[in-house]
Amino acid sequence: MTRTIQNELEDIRSRGLLRSTRLISGRQSAHVLCNDHDVLLLCSNNYLGLADHPALVAASIAAAQHYGTSSGASRLVSGTMALHEQLEHAVASFKKSEAALLFNSGYAANTGIIQALVGRGDVVFSDRLNHASIVDGILLSGARLVRYPHNDYRQLAVLMEKHAKGRSLIVSDGVFSMDGDIAPLAELVRLKHTHGALLMVDDAHGCGVLGKQGRGSAELLGVGSDIDIQMGTFGKALGSFGAYAAVSAELRELLINRARSFIFSTSLPPSVLAASLAAVELVQTPEGDLLREQLSANTSFFRNSLAEAGFNIPPGSTQIVPIVIGSAVTTMQFSEALLAEGLFAQGIRPPTVPAGTSRLRFTVMATHTHTDLAGAVERISHVGRTLGVA
Ligand SMILES: *Cc1c(COP(=O)(O)O)cnc(C)c1O
Repeated sequence: MTRTIQNELEDIRSRGLLRSTRLISGRQSAHVLCNDHDVLLLCSNNYLGLADHPALVAASIAAAQHYGTSSGASRLVSGTMALHEQLEHAVASFKKSEAALLFNSGYAANTGIIQALVGRGDVVFSDRLNHASIVDGILLSGARLVRYPHNDYRQLAVLMEKHAKGRSLIVSDGVFSMDGDIAPLAELVRLKHTHGALLMVDDAHGCGVLGKQGRGSAELLGVGSDIDIQMGTFGKALGSFGAYAAVSAELRELLINRARSFIFSTSLPPSVLAASLAAVELVQTPEGDLLREQLSANTSFFRNSLAEAGFNIPPGSTQIVPIVIGSAVTTMQFSEALLAEGLFAQGIRPPTVPAGTSRLRFTVMATHTHTDLAGAVERISHVGRTLGVA
C-alpha cells in the first residue's frame, strides 16, 4: 500500500503526536492574547521580558530608518553591514572571546558550525538530550555520531577512549532545553584536554540569564576560556533573533570559509541586529542584574511550590521547569485544561523528548509577578490532581 499524506497524518494523530500552531494576537509579554483571551504565558523563552522592551523596539525602528529593511545579500557578497560588525564586536566583548561570528538562527549556527568543523573520519560525542539542531548538524557533517548518556561524563570518558579518531568534537547544550539542567562543563573541559578534542557548548538557554553578568553557563561554572565554541542565540533571553559563535579569530576565519549556513544565506537585517545589540548592552547594565535577580527569585518560588505540590520535577535550578508526565495524551489534556484556566504552557512530546517522557515544560520570566505565579501554582495543582498527575 502506498503511504499517502492522509495515512501519515492519521498515524501521527492516532499516536497523540499531532502538532499545530497556536495564535498569539498581541505582543510578547508575560501575559498574551491567545485566541483573544488574556492568558499567563508560561512557555516562552523570552525569559527577561526583553521582546517588547522599549530600548530594543526603539533601536530596531531607528536601524530600519537609517539602514533600510534588508541586508540584500549574504555576508560574503554585499550583506556585511556596519551593524553586523558592531554586534560581533559587542558579543566578543560580552563573552570575553577573541572573536565572534553571527548566524541567522541557532538552528543555522549549529548545523553550520558542526558541518564546518568535522566530516568523514571524525567523531562527534554528543549528549543524548542535545537539541535537535545539533543532531542535524552532526548528520549533515558525515562525521560519526557517538551519543553519551545525559550529563554522564564518566561514560563519555569511556566512549572517548574507545572511539576517538580523526578530529574529535564534544558538543553539549549548556542548559538542556527540555530538562532545564546544566551540563558538567568543568568535566567536559577536562576530557577535551585529555583527548585533544574540540569542545562546543550551545548556550541558547543560558545566555543573558546565567552567571553574574549573564554571560551564560560558562560564566556560572567559571570555564569560559576553555570552550572552543560558545554558541548562543538572540531569540530567547535576549528578546531578538539570530545566533552567534564566540570563538578564536582563527576559528572565525574557518567558519567564514566552511560553514554553509553562513555562506549560502542572506544575512540578518538591520532592525534585528540593532535589537540584538541593544539587548547585549542592556543585560550588562544594573537593569540586567535586576532582571536576573527577579528571574532567579521567580524560578525558586515556582520550582519549590510545584515540587511541594507533589509534581515530578527533574533536579535543576534554571528557569526551565518541566513536569514529567510520561503519556503524550495525558500531557496534552493537562495543557488544554490549563489553557481553559488561563495558563499557557505547552506539552512537549516525542520526538522533541524521548518516548515515555512527555512533559509540560513551564518557563519562568523575570516579568511574571508573584501573584501571577502563586495563582498559576494553585491552578496547576488543581488540574494535576484532577488528572491524577500530582
Ligand atoms: C532554541 C534552540 C536552538 C535554536 O535556536 P533558534 O535561534 O531558535 O534557531 C538551538 N539550540 C538550543 C539548545 C535551543 O534551545
